Amino acid sequence: MTNAARSKAIEHYVAARPDFKQQLGFFEALWAAQDEIAADAVEYAPASTEDTVSALRKTRTLFSLVAPTIPLEPYRAAVRRIAGLMAKRAGLPEEQSAALTEADLAGAISQEGLDSMLSGFDAFVSGVMAEVDDDRLNEPLVFFVLSEAATPFLRQPAADAVKAAGDFDWLQYDSGLCPACGTPAASGVVRDEGELQGGRRWLSCPTCRTEWEYARVRCARCGHRSHDKLEYLFDEHDPGHRLHTCKKCNGYIPVTFEKQTTVIAVPEVEEVIMVPLEQVATSRGLSPLGDDVSETAN
Ligand SMILES: [Zn+2]
Ligand SMILES: [Zn+2]
Repeated sequence: MTNAARSKAIEHYVAARPDFKQQLGFFEALWAAQDEIAADAVEYAPASTEDTVSALRKTRTLFSLVAPTIPLEPYRAAVRRIAGLMAKRAGLPEEQSAALTEADLAGAISQEGLDSMLSGFDAFVSGVMAEVDDDRLNEPLVFFVLSEAATPFLRQPAADAVKAAGDFDWLQYDSGLCPACGTPAASGVVRDEGELQGGRRWLSCPTCRTEWEYARVRCARCGHRSHDKLEYLFDEHDPGHRLHTCKKCNGYIPVTFEKQTTVIAVPEVEEVIMVPLEQVATSRGLSPLGDDVSETAN
């Protein structure tokens, strides 16, 4: 997605949904900071097309094929900058803002920890939390800072890795996990591809912002396909924003129907608009990633 499309989407929602003005203001500042940080990203040399396609057919991530390099000092600087931005503008409780300013998250990141980041982000976050040992910070908050700080270093490598797949048919990849970095998709967009194709769904990675096509009628969490278990949850006044929910695994994923919104869908912007829907889902006992159910034959 281009920055022009993103600015246009933000402008649209600030006018159409003034209730999101504060959140969108924060995210706009965050994305602008990430764009600047991305200047420090290290150049990435992707695998050959043959190796890339072969990895995708085995549902292996492209970063496990060729890992991107995240430089330690620029990453630490990014963590400081994003923690500072959150403390100032995210509208967090005062205690958490103070903790983000005072706790040295960046200083708690070792080269060794950073090297293991892509093979297990949760473990990386736990390691940093144990090192700073500050009760005012919670796991989702630290996770957010560390992962948003990683995004600028992963976005271009992911784009390069995915480009090496050439004209690969993404439906063959067939997973709700990002093909580049392995993070579960944060949201999807159904784009209308004209009368012959109808709507096709593209999933989006919150970490490296890769988009990949995924079957439209299929749970992005457990892979279940039968209509009787899959539903949409949405406000009838806003049919362009829905949650695709699954009775098999109790998971859900926010999905934007581009045809029913009046602006080109930019996943990270649409995700901000769909947060209240997610709250409805959790109040009904659904969870973003669903229960761990093994789905084989379908
Ligand atoms: Zn990714
Ligand atoms: Zn499911």
